[in-house]
Amino acid sequence: MTTLRERLIDLYYGATWLWRRRWNRLRSRVGLSPVMILFYHRVADDNPSSWTISNRGFTEQIDWIGANFEFVSLEEAQRRIELRYNPRPAVAITFDDGYAENCEQALPLLIKRKIPFTYFVSTGNIMTGKPFPHEANAPFQAPVNTLEQIRSLAAAGVEIGAHTRYHADLGSIDNEEQLYDEVVTATRDLAAAVGQPIRYFAFPYGLPKNLNDRAFEMCREAGMLGVCSAYGGYNLPGDDPFHLQRIHGDPQLARLRNWLTIDPRKLSVPRYTPETLVEKHAAPRYATEATGVMA
Ligand SMILES: [Zn+2]
Repeated sequence: MTTLRERLIDLYYGATWLWRRRWNRLRSRVGLSPVMILFYHRVADDNPSSWTISNRGFTEQIDWIGANFEFVSLEEAQRRIELRYNPRPAVAITFDDGYAENCEQALPLLIKRKIPFTYFVSTGNIMTGKPFPHEANAPFQAPVNTLEQIRSLAAAGVEIGAHTRYHADLGSIDNEEQLYDEVVTATRDLAAAVGQPIRYFAFPYGLPKNLNDRAFEMCREAGMLGVCSAYGGYNLPGDDPFHLQRIHGDPQLARLRNWLTIDPRKLSVPRYTPETLVEKHAAPRYATEATGVMA
């Protein structure tokens, strides 16, 4: 069933279609096409929540993305941003938290089709099976991935990423020791448990208010390749490749399509830049408004 909101999005898409086509063609011609990174949470058919997409809906999205974009790994996405060259709009798939039901259909589908993806998990939840804090008081608490499942994914070539110990809001932590445990020690514990290096980190919740400049530094110092936010925003070749901006894998295809074909309004989402970099480059660009959803 089409909702009014979806119809309005379709109308907006139609009204801006020519602009989108021109923008994308011009960018493609000079090798400066966008590199977009999607984040999903839970793919399941029962007990839906605002961070759940159905298996059918997910498959439809993967089919549509595959027909219109190039799938790339997070590492390849970074490489293109860093090299300032990407001739065709590319999409990288990521998941956050670690929901067990993803292993039923969604992840096997991606693996079968050889579509690369990065799977960010909260170490403590995976080790103990404890529900995520944003589900602690919900009537239904979706099962968490087991360590065995995460090891199997790693063995199948999936990039496993870190997402703190118990899905902490790092924007509210200023205690150095506590922050270090969430960012560095929890990541090392995950690497030891999985048996492979953990190279990427995703900030839980991921809005500008949930990011932490010191955590950016800790990730760099610990040798991580990059960190992900989740407030929306496109990555363009030449942007900072260490901070990867992600877009919500909206369960509604109309809204996802609106994002991925370049919504002119969303090109101006301000990129969060840690204070230390702002000082260094004297180019303050702060996000003032939350534009994403829970990550
Ligand atoms: Zn999360």
